[in-house]
Amino acid sequence: MDFALTAEDEAFRDELRAWLATNLPPFLADWGGEDDPGTGRSTGVARSQERRKDWQRRLNEGRWAAINWPKVWGGREATPVQNVLYSEEMARVRAPGIFNANGLWQIGPMIIRWGTEEQVERWIPGILSADEHWCQGFSEPEAGSDLANLRTSAIRDGDDYVVNGQKIWISTAHLAKWGLFLLRTDPTAIERGAKHEGITAFIIDMETPGIECRPIRDIVGDEMFNEVWFTDARIPVSSRLGDEGAGWQVAMGTLGHERVGTAGLAITMAADLRSMISVARATNPDALDDPEIRERIARAWTDIELTRLLNYRALTKIIKGQKNWPEVPLAKLQWSHLAQTLAELAVDMLGPAGLLAKGGPDAVDGGNWTRLYTFQRYTSIGAGATEVQKNIIADRALLANKKE
Ligand SMILES: Cc1cc2nc3c(=O)[nH]c(=O)nc-3n(C[C@H](O)[C@H](O)[C@H](O)COP(=O)(O)OP(=O)(O)OC[C@H]3O[C@@H](n4cnc5c(N)ncnc54)[C@H](O)[C@@H]3O)c2cc1C
Repeated sequence: MDFALTAEDEAFRDELRAWLATNLPPFLADWGGEDDPGTGRSTGVARSQERRKDWQRRLNEGRWAAINWPKVWGGREATPVQNVLYSEEMARVRAPGIFNANGLWQIGPMIIRWGTEEQVERWIPGILSADEHWCQGFSEPEAGSDLANLRTSAIRDGDDYVVNGQKIWISTAHLAKWGLFLLRTDPTAIERGAKHEGITAFIIDMETPGIECRPIRDIVGDEMFNEVWFTDARIPVSSRLGDEGAGWQVAMGTLGHERVGTAGLAITMAADLRSMISVARATNPDALDDPEIRERIARAWTDIELTRLLNYRALTKIIKGQKNWPEVPLAKLQWSHLAQTLAELAVDMLGPAGLLAKGGPDAVDGGNWTRLYTFQRYTSIGAGATEVQKNIIADRALLANKKE
């Protein structure tokens, strides 16, 4: 591993640091420091979206919203090292969330790669400027980890496709103007034993008649994700992204972008650990004399450092043009394990008062740790469930190493 930065990378980091130093304080003065949906229900989510929209607009004005996009589309064509620096700097200042995370990191790059000139011109500016919110509609009740089992159908009828079926867990679909959906254009593919075939990607106007979003109340009481029902919804052929039947290829490109720039997580988690210790010192100091708690703190700290180095090792491999196995799936596992370990540690360190929920007058630190305790469960489900990640590591990384 070589930790030295090139002059170009240093200039990138310094420019970003300077931009954040100038632009983050006035944003926080306008909106306050809180970045989660608040006390729940759809109103909390909607306010959080407005805050994110404003932050993304300011980032875009500084050309810091879509660093991986081509320069002609407001990007910086950032290198892998610059992605890590970006992620670390954003974590260091605890930057607010952005409005179109899906759109900027996954959907936008796919439209640029697979879309026609007309499609790029139509959709890319709205993603970047935060004028239009996007969602990503892949999962179905019988197609989560086994995504290729999806069955929501899109059957060609003249200049339209007619869509029927159900998606689930679609984040912010009820707030989105557009969604990138994967639909089954060849319903015989699953029966033929070729489920990865016959899937097509579409960009769908969420206001199309025949589409109904039903928000699902989640474990912390927010209404962030949805069931999306399609009943004879007609979508134009011109909204198809890529060829009919090429959806799996488009989707894999989209999901691949999810793993970029997780290096900052080690910084966020280290800051969380420091912060929970100082809260415990003020509210429940005896816990910090407990040998078991002390050992858990030390283990968590060691695990955070391991995660940081794992990410650097993956980066080194990418720079050398090698496969980033098994570091990338290991880092995903490490992240979900640590996110949950830290949340459990926080609640144990803070004692009974630490269990008081957000909104209560005596809640420690606004009840944020209690909220995290339940919310962090998502980290072992989203972006690849833990058991499935372990299968991937076993199948591809260990077996591949054995053969070498
Ligand atoms: C907060 C959150 C936001 C989300 N947002 C979106 C979104 O915007 N758009 C979208 O399309 N989806 C979204 N999802 C859905 C997410 O992609 C799925 O939850 C995920 O793919 C897992 O699918 P599933 O929930 O159907 O679980 P399943 O795949 O049914 O898994 C259930 C359990 O079985 C285990 N399991 C499954 N297969 C195997 C196997 N082969 N071997 C061993 N164990 C196995 C899993 O590890 C898990 O523990 C979101 C999920 C969450 C939690």
